[in-house]
Amino acid sequence: NGSLEVRDALAEALKEAGVDVALELKKEEEHTGTYISKSGCQGFCQMGPLLHIEPGDILYTKVKVSDVPEIVERTLKKGEVIDRLLFVHPQTHVHCKGDAEIPFYNRQKRVVLANCRVEPSCVREYIARGGYFGARKAILEMKPEEVCQTAIDSGLRGRGGGGFPTGLKWKFTLASQNDKKYVICNGDEGDPGAFMDRSVMEGNPHSVIEGMMIAARAIGADEGYVYVRAEYPLAVERMRAAVKDAEEAGLLGDHLFGSDFSFKVTVMEGAGAFVCGEETALIASIEGKRGMPRPKPPFPAQSGLWGKPTVINNVETLASVPGIFLNGPEQYKAVGTEKSPGTKTFALTGHVANTGLIEVPFGTTLREIIYNIGGGVTNNKGEVTTEDFKAVQIGGPSGGCLTPDMLDLPLDFDSLKSAGAMVGSGGLVVMNKETCIVKIARFFMQFTQNESCGKCVPCREGTKQMLAMLDDIIEGRADRKTLELLEETAKAVQLGSLCALGKTAPNPVLSTLRFFREEYEAHVFKKI
Ligand code: SF4
Repeated sequence: NGSLEVRDALAEALKEAGVDVALELKKEEEHTGTYISKSGCQGFCQMGPLLHIEPGDILYTKVKVSDVPEIVERTLKKGEVIDRLLFVHPQTHVHCKGDAEIPFYNRQKRVVLANCRVEPSCVREYIARGGYFGARKAILEMKPEEVCQTAIDSGLRGRGGGGFPTGLKWKFTLASQNDKKYVICNGDEGDPGAFMDRSVMEGNPHSVIEGMMIAARAIGADEGYVYVRAEYPLAVERMRAAVKDAEEAGLLGDHLFGSDFSFKVTVMEGAGAFVCGEETALIASIEGKRGMPRPKPPFPAQSGLWGKPTVINNVETLASVPGIFLNGPEQYKAVGTEKSPGTKTFALTGHVANTGLIEVPFGTTLREIIYNIGGGVTNNKGEVTTEDFKAVQIGGPSGGCLTPDMLDLPLDFDSLKSAGAMVGSGGLVVMNKETCIVKIARFFMQFTQNESCGKCVPCREGTKQMLAMLDDIIEGRADRKTLELLEETAKAVQLGSLCALGKTAPNPVLSTLRFFREEYEAHVFKKI
């Protein structure tokens, strides 16, 4: 959006004004002056470039290079706030100075995204905010069994889609006897419309490293891999920079905190196959093999990377871990719902006024997310309307759709499952009434069909046939039997596929058939 141009112009203008300005915050001496920090994603994508000024908590939105001289003259020199650069509250039309006044921010609870406003890879910034104290405690004061139990007590569930209790996963891996174990961070997020993990790696990479250290302590591992898709070059760069910074600070390597615990981390780039987000395919990819899933058992907890016991946790899961050990599991459980504690990041996209990255407690309703944080549904002219909400696709190509009668459904693992959808990784695509739901189903089917690795027949052939039927429906070649066959094939693919990609690929079709069957029939009988 031009943020870096704004930063450079600001640096130039400050230098001309005689201010000693730094663009990096790496060395001791650079702490004393003014500095302009790059940040991670601040979430409010629709309003970028954003400029956050401290002290004063001023957030300027849609900043242009041409605004820079006025910002320097009025705000930085005289302390004045420039109203035209502030966010205007859509209902009250009041200019909002900072986060506390902006509905997009003040209705969120930012935990894993909390550090996204500071220099992301800088270990000093992270430590200044309590970073690595949770790991220190886990390493120096707790036995591995206690580390597992603390994670179990917190109720933390995996954010990658399945919602499996993280502490239990660690406990199973701890129980596997072996002289070598691994921790893997799964950063292979690939769902269309999802960018939560990317933003956490770009904006808060040390929290991921610290989460891995604690997981390693829990299971008895001394080595970890961060597997990031190559399409996320900034995430790769910042994860690598954070690992280097942590190594230089003595926070990765041998005898950490003076203990006998050692841990090293390697950042690996995946080649961009969606199926490599599946844990056994991911392991094969790290081993240099073709990224294809294999049947389970054995589970990675028994035989994972190079046949050794391995824990694989998703990026957001690991970023949630340090806070649990810093503040205790009780504090963590105080947010969210009883069975889904904590917060969840969502990528809010589609027909909504404020697209972006958000983090809310589990149990927040769709209504709160779309209308208050998201600012409401937009029609095809981009105008905010109250009547136009049609559905939300949650969980990307593995998820399902939620309809207007589910606006007050609390978003958590179990409520969504009972509604026939899933949290998935956290993509939320909002659709207005002008959206053709069959074309949306075809879009997701096209995606999973492209990404099917082809190892097993139900997924390889079934997704291809389903896509052909959806084409027939949209292009007017289908009849009633096509709909029956589509449903039957979807169920067969669900039942017969080897891995989660195939098992969940039919979800968008089945859920749209369930809630919007009349639209499919309209295509078939009225030949829309
Ligand atoms: Fe490959 Fe699909 Fe079978 Fe998974 S379900 S192993 S992606 S063919």
